[in-house]
Amino acid sequence: MKTPAIIILSGPSGAGKTTLLNKLFSKKNIKEKFIRAISYTTRKIRPKEKHGRDYFFIDKRKFIQLKKKNFFLESQKVLDNYYGTAKYFYNMAAEENKSLILCIDVKGGMYLKKKQKEGKIVTLFIAAPSELDLFKRLKMRTEAARTIQKRITLAKKEMKVSRQYDSIIINKDLSKSLKELEKVLLKNQK
Ligand code: 5GP
Repeated sequence: MKTPAIIILSGPSGAGKTTLLNKLFSKKNIKEKFIRAISYTTRKIRPKEKHGRDYFFIDKRKFIQLKKKNFFLESQKVLDNYYGTAKYFYNMAAEENKSLILCIDVKGGMYLKKKQKEGKIVTLFIAAPSELDLFKRLKMRTEAARTIQKRITLAKKEMKVSRQYDSIIINKDLSKSLKELEKVLLKNQK
């Protein structure tokens, strides 16, 4: 069993990380080489989301219980909710000789980069082309005005941390970003 490479994808909510990953994971060459972790969260499920596909939606009590049991590889509080990556995805990647893709916030990303001493860690930041663009995308998700404002304020903070990432993709054109992301992933699998 080899130590899996970990590819960390971060970026503001609404920058398009999930859309890009969904499209990539419809490709055979990606599915063959990568595992995408599904995070656990205490956030409320959105209308188009599905438990077990987008996230495992659990309550705060359960989350804290799992955290105490050392279930998570990393976990963070983002805005008002908790998010965590289960260790078993890492073990699965090792067993299947694949690389692991995590879609996590910048705090989780930087934490893992420092903590993980074994195996390759690649950090990739997906940014929206502009604040206006981000606003439009968040609005399309029918988020409440207060939530949108909180997410934009957080996005500005995250952009500052993006300098510490190995590469940045500005997601202006979906098909171009997709090609760019695929190239980085395939180059960095172990
Ligand atoms: P959202 O609520 O928009 O789905 O996600 C909010 C933020 O939490 C995003 O930056 C997303 O990448 C991050 N996130 C999702 N899952 C995890 C996780 O398991 N760990 C950490 N640290 N962040 C996560």
